[in-house]
Amino acid sequence: MKSFFRLLFRSLLIGLLGLITLLVAKTIMFSSRQIAVEPIQPLQIPEGASARLSTSLQIPSLAGSEGAVFARLDTLLRAQFPRAFSQLQVEQIGQGSLLLKWPGKQAKLNPILFMGHLDVVPADSAHWIYPPFAGTIADGFIWGRGAIDDKMSVWAILEAIEWMISEEYYPDRTLYLAFGHDEESQGKDGARQIGQWLASRDVRLDFVLDEGSFVVSNALDGLEAPLAAVAIGEKGFVSFTLKIDLAEGGHASMPPSFTAVGAMAYALERIRQHPFPASMGGVTGQFFDYVGPEIGGFNRVVLANRWLFSSLLIDKLSADPAANALIRTTAAPTLIQGGIRDNVLPLQVEATVNVRILPGETIASAQAYLEKIIDNPAIKISVADNNYGGDPPAPSSTEAFGFQVLQKTIGEIFPEAVVAPTVSAGFTDSRHYRAVSGQIYRFSPILLSKEDLKGMHGVNERISEENYARMIRFYRQLIRNACQ
Ligand SMILES: [Zn+2]
Repeated sequence: MKSFFRLLFRSLLIGLLGLITLLVAKTIMFSSRQIAVEPIQPLQIPEGASARLSTSLQIPSLAGSEGAVFARLDTLLRAQFPRAFSQLQVEQIGQGSLLLKWPGKQAKLNPILFMGHLDVVPADSAHWIYPPFAGTIADGFIWGRGAIDDKMSVWAILEAIEWMISEEYYPDRTLYLAFGHDEESQGKDGARQIGQWLASRDVRLDFVLDEGSFVVSNALDGLEAPLAAVAIGEKGFVSFTLKIDLAEGGHASMPPSFTAVGAMAYALERIRQHPFPASMGGVTGQFFDYVGPEIGGFNRVVLANRWLFSSLLIDKLSADPAANALIRTTAAPTLIQGGIRDNVLPLQVEATVNVRILPGETIASAQAYLEKIIDNPAIKISVADNNYGGDPPAPSSTEAFGFQVLQKTIGEIFPEAVVAPTVSAGFTDSRHYRAVSGQIYRFSPILLSKEDLKGMHGVNERISEENYARMIRFYRQLIRNACQ
């Protein structure tokens, strides 16, 4: 008997040692995906760049504004960037969108396209340190609605081009600039029309760059370097209507055990209790392949051995709403209506659940999952009428020219940052370009803290002058790298 226990103990010990060896080996083999590039010394940017962005923030180009507001921005752009507007071909599209073309010398190279948008969301000035439409420059920042969403993209790209023209730079590859005026209201008159305009002329884009994830400091536990996440995919967007329609209600003084309100509340609670399954594959897996080797300590062991630690990792990520959104399809109840009086049991109750679908899944699979979880034939689920989203697009490739050139440029301008592919939880105007390009990337070259991100669509939106200068250098370098 004694020898049996000794044998058991020995086998367990050998097993444990084997496991440790495997964990260590996997951790050592977890090699970096970062590329070695020579950092570029910061160049002096054109004088007056901050003031020009500030002027643009003083025009309150709210989404849905009439054409005259965007005409003012158009006039301003032409006055501020005279070289760009004379050398590039300019096309006015819709109520206030612009498509600019900088023709390349080599027709055989597929063109590329940078996006940006001119419209902004409203701002309630109550809690702002500086008024949202004053474009104040103070404390090293340019303050105002649109400072990081998204006038800085439009202005920084044009600053770079104006600068390059003055240096007598001529691109080999054609560069398009697409500046929409209704991104915040789904881009129907702007980006959609620009996408159609390009498609009707058989333009095939090598890649598209849209606003998107930032370079974020303190992004992850154990990662000391700032994280430059480039969104290679985006989640799908759909709203489902949940409807219950009973033949009879009963009296509120003698309620039956099954009521329309009770059934709907229970269904919504079932959705909360049964989140969509998490995925560690696809872009999420790629993200950890890029980030993991740059992380120190035990976190690196965990990320190198996701085959063993995936449930631990999923539990941890699920607890943080931002991380949770990257590993699974999410469902958020957003509207609910039912009932007409406090003493009448309603027959109909309707709820809306907004679902953001992870690449690889579809609207149909999300609906099937909700039906299974709710498991109540009395509740009918359908796609809401105002649906303007769709299935998530196939993610772009990290092997493609677009990602490679972005990774190189990030290395040159943000040498301290770690680059990783990711999925955007929001959905952008870039979907209107799917017909003209298979490679769409979403990235804004600005270094922010998690705190700074709150200004986007919130109060005290601002960009530091240092960030803005780096942004201009980034686009100049990106054009040089991509267009030769
Ligand atoms: Zn935006």
